[in-house]
Amino acid sequence: MPGLYIHIPFCNEKCHYCDFFSGNQLYLIEDYVNAIVKEIELRYSYLSDKQINTIYFGGGTPSLLSAVQISKILVAIHSKFLVKPDAEITLECNPENVNSTYINQLVSIGINRISLGVQFLDNIILEKFNRQHSKELIYNALGDLESSLIENISVDLIYAVPGISDDSLISSLEILLTYNIKHFSAYSLTIAKNSKLYWKIQNGEVIENDENSFVNQYWLVNNLLDSKGYKQYEVSNYAKEGFESRHNLAYWNQVPYLGLGVSAHSYNLQSRQWNHKNIRKYIQNMKSGIIETDMEMLTDIEKYNEYVILKLRTYQGISMNFVRNNFSDIIFDHFFKTVAKMKEYGHFISDGDLIISKQSDLLLADYLAKDLVY
Ligand code: SF4
Repeated sequence: MPGLYIHIPFCNEKCHYCDFFSGNQLYLIEDYVNAIVKEIELRYSYLSDKQINTIYFGGGTPSLLSAVQISKILVAIHSKFLVKPDAEITLECNPENVNSTYINQLVSIGINRISLGVQFLDNIILEKFNRQHSKELIYNALGDLESSLIENISVDLIYAVPGISDDSLISSLEILLTYNIKHFSAYSLTIAKNSKLYWKIQNGEVIENDENSFVNQYWLVNNLLDSKGYKQYEVSNYAKEGFESRHNLAYWNQVPYLGLGVSAHSYNLQSRQWNHKNIRKYIQNMKSGIIETDMEMLTDIEKYNEYVILKLRTYQGISMNFVRNNFSDIIFDHFFKTVAKMKEYGHFISDGDLIISKQSDLLLADYLAKDLVY
């Protein structure tokens, strides 16, 4: 069952490590919301199945929208799609925007999952990377979320950050684990080329963590979350049972989705489409009823490569039957022979039809996938 992704491209300030598409023209938010509503009317037929299993507001900073503005988008969605009664409806929030009044409003309009952008719990590092919140605001936000009707709370964390020691990482995680968090996304710091951090590293102002420290902190996070009952269901994602992100799983399982808003991508099993990265132009186009997307048709080889790359990163693994039934004999032959060779090296476990990375090798998933791609 397909999903919807809504991109909210506004942030108060740019975090120094970030290269996501976002701007600080907050005065455009109301026009942008109206443009999203128009895009829903113009593009809902992109998905042949109108039953929606997940809705995800990502950004940028979706929590810069008022509950009224989010509700306007949800009402438009409900008018064109059949949203399942138990659909997962996620809003990414930054801690500085969260308080009990806002959360109650979100609950009343149907948001049932919050993904909180915590990232670090160290005030010096938060400031250094230009985050707009302190650790005290994070505690307040988590406290307010915990005492609300939102049961499904997810937290985003970044590790392998210059200036955060192993001890400090562990004590931060231990504090977070005192809250009723159901899901963690934990990513190592990536140095994006368009980010301020990249230039700080080039200028020698910041020293990048080395590979050993990255691997070490990956295992510290992994072991601590594992000991507290969080299952690693993808290289960077951990959840209590039943709280795996349906939005994430759908993406890895190549379920169709419609992406709304600037720079949002869509996928319908045959092609990918994506909207341009210009907020003003997007608003203007929607006012005039003009859809301007780029598109690429996916070849069988591209579809196969995506399938193995994404699935190898998950606990679900790769289905032999899926590869056999959906791709050519030549591709299956390549897959079969490569898997046999890699099993000899002990990288994969077979579970019936499934080829699964050993948990100890999940970190190597991207590297191992290089042999499997065609
Ligand atoms: S990390 Fe999030 S809040 Fe910071 S600039 Fe990027 S999108 Fe905005």
